[in-house]
Amino acid sequence: MGYSQIHSYAVSGIEVIPVSVETHLSSGLPKFTLVGLPEAVVKESKERVRSALMHHQLPFPKQRITINLAPADLPKQGGAFDLPIAIGLLAAQGLFSDIDWSEYVFCGELGLAGQLRPIQGVLPMLMQACKQLILPASQPEYQVIQSKHTALVAEDLLAIISHLKGETTLPQHPTQTLTSNENEPDFNSVVGQTLGKQAVTLAAVGGHALRFIGPPGCGKSLLAQLLSECLPHLNEHDYLMRASLYQAAHLPHPDNYRPSFRSPHHSVSRAGLIGGGNPIRPGEISLAHQGILFLDEIAEMPRKLLECLREPIEQQQVHLARASHIVTFPSAFQLICAMNPCPCGYLTDPNHPCDCSSQAIEQYQSRLSGPFLDRIALHVHLHPPHLSNDQPLSNAPLTLSAIQTLRTQQFERQGCLNNQLNTAHPILKQNTSSEAYTLLSNIYQTQHLSMRALGHLHTTAFTFADISDSPHINAQHIEQAWMFQSKAMHLKTYAPSI
Ligand SMILES: [Zn+2]
Repeated sequence: MGYSQIHSYAVSGIEVIPVSVETHLSSGLPKFTLVGLPEAVVKESKERVRSALMHHQLPFPKQRITINLAPADLPKQGGAFDLPIAIGLLAAQGLFSDIDWSEYVFCGELGLAGQLRPIQGVLPMLMQACKQLILPASQPEYQVIQSKHTALVAEDLLAIISHLKGETTLPQHPTQTLTSNENEPDFNSVVGQTLGKQAVTLAAVGGHALRFIGPPGCGKSLLAQLLSECLPHLNEHDYLMRASLYQAAHLPHPDNYRPSFRSPHHSVSRAGLIGGGNPIRPGEISLAHQGILFLDEIAEMPRKLLECLREPIEQQQVHLARASHIVTFPSAFQLICAMNPCPCGYLTDPNHPCDCSSQAIEQYQSRLSGPFLDRIALHVHLHPPHLSNDQPLSNAPLTLSAIQTLRTQQFERQGCLNNQLNTAHPILKQNTSSEAYTLLSNIYQTQHLSMRALGHLHTTAFTFADISDSPHINAQHIEQAWMFQSKAMHLKTYAPSI
């Protein structure tokens, strides 16, 4: 009678779940039983394991074999359990001595000749592994990895057995050197639109969500692109997280550190935007994780679909329920959206007449619900630029390294970007002057702001203070921030009084 317990991983979405592969050998007629919710591919692993062991003249037990994949209630998919099952069978027969199996994690699909084949979900495993992970050598993911993790790789089963017996040592997984070009954002790529460029700088520094409203061709999409150029490059963890999400979506991964810029068409499905399908895949909100989700023509998107975004915006992750389990994908994206002011698009364009009825304009505006608009911090009304009157920015635009420095300062000060703060946060209270507080409460009462809108006004002012290197939010910063809070189609004029 023999027993062994080998550790492996299952991957659900991009979540890594430890799985124990228990092998029990008992006397009786030869029989191979696999329990623990194995799906079809896992059930077939006994044939691959048997052939692989016999091909290498390794012993295959002629007894009653029971293999249990625990936890029993988690459905097991894919061929990654072939390798731990094979190692478990050998260990239960006493082939190895003095090995602490709790130190190792094995994942890999076996060919009939014992060769190791690629498996799904290697990147999340690499990010989470705290034990000695042993993986197939031919994973395509190694082409996007720059730093070493705790994984050893093998071409076949014999190489692993030789390593476990101490005869040879397996190599670490290969890595690639990736080039990372940090080009400065080109603010001249957009003609005019001083207010739009100022909003882009604010959004880049403070992480605020942004909406552009303006007639067709005034530069809304170009400003969104400009914002993506202003964002600092991803760190190694976020880069690997993005690579995992792209892999889970079966999409080729960009081999650079630039944050994602996802711009789904307004006809995108719910599963395409939020995530879903069978097998479950991440949607655009997760592919834009640590990057930008740009929703152009947002008023054309179904209202129900936009309402689905509210929870992921708040929680920075999305939970997708399935019959037996819940899959969670991260979704810390920066929302940028653009829309025309009316169905024809020319309501605020002095060069084109607008032929929309007031009823049509009202209907168009109401396509975005109040609660959804409340989650957007900056609202910018754009007008067609005048080529002869192209005013430069009052201050020189921030460089990429200056934006990075300002973002790092926020993380050091409060552990997050300004957009994540709410107005009752002590750090905001400490850094707001009494005049600024008076002005804030004045605006709050006269303009009937929601608490969330008040928070946006306060945190946007904090970003203004950061950019101007001011230790405190003063009344001027609140006034500047108020310019970006008007949700109505025509810019409200408001003369703040202290
Ligand atoms: Zn119109």
